[in-house]
Amino acid sequence: MTRPLGNQVFRFAPSSNGHLHLGHAYSALLNFDMARAAGGRFLLRIEDIDVERCRPEFERAILEDLDWLGLTWEEPVRRQSEHFADYAAALARLERLGLTYPCFCTRGEILTAAAARPNWPRDPDGTPHYPGACKLIPPEERRRRLAAGQAATQRIDMQAALARFGARLSWREYGANSEGWDVAAEPGLWGDAVLSRKDIQTSYHISVVLDDALQGVTDVVRGEDLYAATSLHRLLQALLDLPPPSYHHHALLRDAAGQKLSKSLRAKSLRALRQEGLSPSAVRERLAPPPILTSAM
Ligand code: GLU
Repeated sequence: MTRPLGNQVFRFAPSSNGHLHLGHAYSALLNFDMARAAGGRFLLRIEDIDVERCRPEFERAILEDLDWLGLTWEEPVRRQSEHFADYAAALARLERLGLTYPCFCTRGEILTAAAARPNWPRDPDGTPHYPGACKLIPPEERRRRLAAGQAATQRIDMQAALARFGARLSWREYGANSEGWDVAAEPGLWGDAVLSRKDIQTSYHISVVLDDALQGVTDVVRGEDLYAATSLHRLLQALLDLPPPSYHHHALLRDAAGQKLSKSLRAKSLRALRQEGLSPSAVRERLAPPPILTSAM
């Protein structure tokens, strides 16, 4: 089956915690070109919930770089830091459904508890599953600790969430040639994942799922590093009654050593390439032909 045409909404959703590199340019151009080819809309969203690391000057640079690349997008740009109330409402809804619980553990305590258990499972990002101590805290005690101002993350009670939707969830993934296939979601791989961090009271997972729905995004086109997270996103969509978009996870750009380009590994920024005299059309040429896309990820 091929991708349905018409009324499609695409988005590019960078975090404003650094400068864009060629990998971002690839993803942004792919979204933009796919939106144009479909006669659809292209949105830009700034993912800046991490208010410590995200900075207005990076946001300004992102807009400038994308403009330089020749992209245009609808205004206003949604900035996640202006919508914490939306994320809090979604989290409150999950709490009312009995699907989250506060966790007071530190990262160190979790690592120690997990290390003490042989063959303890890890999530697709390599983080040990939460061993669950705080799940057993009686409600009274939880309330007392929260009222006393003890900082807590909110975790999904994966067992309870799976009991609602179990093995029934899947998402539609499309390849480069528009062929689509269903992927069975495996949210259980994430264990009792954090849905609300201690410091920012939301998480990437909650914010991305909610914003894609609130902005009417029909087609999420993003790097394959987020493929595994889609299982968790699909579960959250089901729990929050949000319409699931279609997905297209593209291969990541790699450097000559085979490392994926990343801000933390100091991939050369688009603006540095621009200062070296690279033109937007040369960027496009450098990014073509597109990386090979496969269903086996
Ligand atoms: N903000 C994420 C990033 O910069 C992308 C999120 C997404 O496309 O779902 O990696």
